[in-house]
Amino acid sequence: MSDNEQRTNAYPTPPFPEQPQTPPGLASEMDPVPDHGETSYKGHGRLTGKKALITGGDSGIGRAVAIAYACEGADVAINYLPEEEEDAAEVISLIKAEGRNAVALPGDVRDETFCQNLVEQAVGKLCGLDILVNNAGRQQYRETLEELTTEDFDSTFKTNVYAPFWITKAALRHMKAPASIINTSSVQAVKPSAVLLDYAQTKACLAVFTKALAKQLGPKGIRVNAVAPGPYWTVLQPSGGQPQEKVKHFGESTPLGRPGQPVEIAPLYVTLASDECSYTSGQVWCSDCGDGVI
Ligand code: NAD
Ligand code: MG
Repeated sequence: MSDNEQRTNAYPTPPFPEQPQTPPGLASEMDPVPDHGETSYKGHGRLTGKKALITGGDSGIGRAVAIAYACEGADVAINYLPEEEEDAAEVISLIKAEGRNAVALPGDVRDETFCQNLVEQAVGKLCGLDILVNNAGRQQYRETLEELTTEDFDSTFKTNVYAPFWITKAALRHMKAPASIINTSSVQAVKPSAVLLDYAQTKACLAVFTKALAKQLGPKGIRVNAVAPGPYWTVLQPSGGQPQEKVKHFGESTPLGRPGQPVEIAPLYVTLASDECSYTSGQVWCSDCGDGVI
């Protein structure tokens, strides 16, 4: 059995313990703790010298992407909420351990002025920007439309739709060919859960944003793609993203009978960021373990 097969077969399967956290939650407090590639990701120099900004880079998918990008030779800036400092500090150390420049930029992306400052600071501290990963996301389940408040709806759209618009707009002032923008959508964009009415809409928005923007930016040599994850074991889920009963059985109905670990999706973000993929743009790339949703 190869190292990879051994690792994949060893990943945890449901049932998981109940583990409610207050959003946004900390990955370090999850049981089992997710594999973000801290020791398991092996780089091959595919992003040598690139400069990347990743929102939501402290935990989950964004953390796995940050670690992978550093292992592949990129300098990385991460954005996250101030209350996630503990998770973020670990990511910063891991990037530095790879000998790369690591930049921590906490703040709330629901604010347009912050989004503009975020990009300016990232560009200033990284000395450029080649890769933008719009990955921060808000997911809070509500059983009924009546329970979904205007504040919820507004917060989900600000985080998942407005922020990528504001951040990308600011980033385009600095990004030059060859560059890559990657948006984190979801299988929810085409197969919405009843309890994620607002969230699912925002992920559909991101898929369409990706396709339209790719047409605008193709002539400038900037590629735009989206990744649509299926169930991945991240702190988003137990921190109000799903009812606890669903957290217990998260990923059980997939062909492998388990959720993905964040490290398992990082290679897709590496490939889409790499210049090797120079003819790939305007597409939504699904990673859902074979459900074939998109
Ligand atoms: P996560 O909680 O680890 O990451 C989400 C991050 O978003 C947080 O760490 C936080 O830093 C950031 N964030 C949220 N609100 C913010 C705000 N107002 N300002 C700044 N940052 C904010 O969970 P994750 O699952 O890794 O989520 C990453 C992305 O993947 C999200 O867009 C999510 O919607 C998407 N996604 C996740 C799954 C899954 O099963 N985990 C499936 C499909 C899509
Ligand atoms: Mg987090």
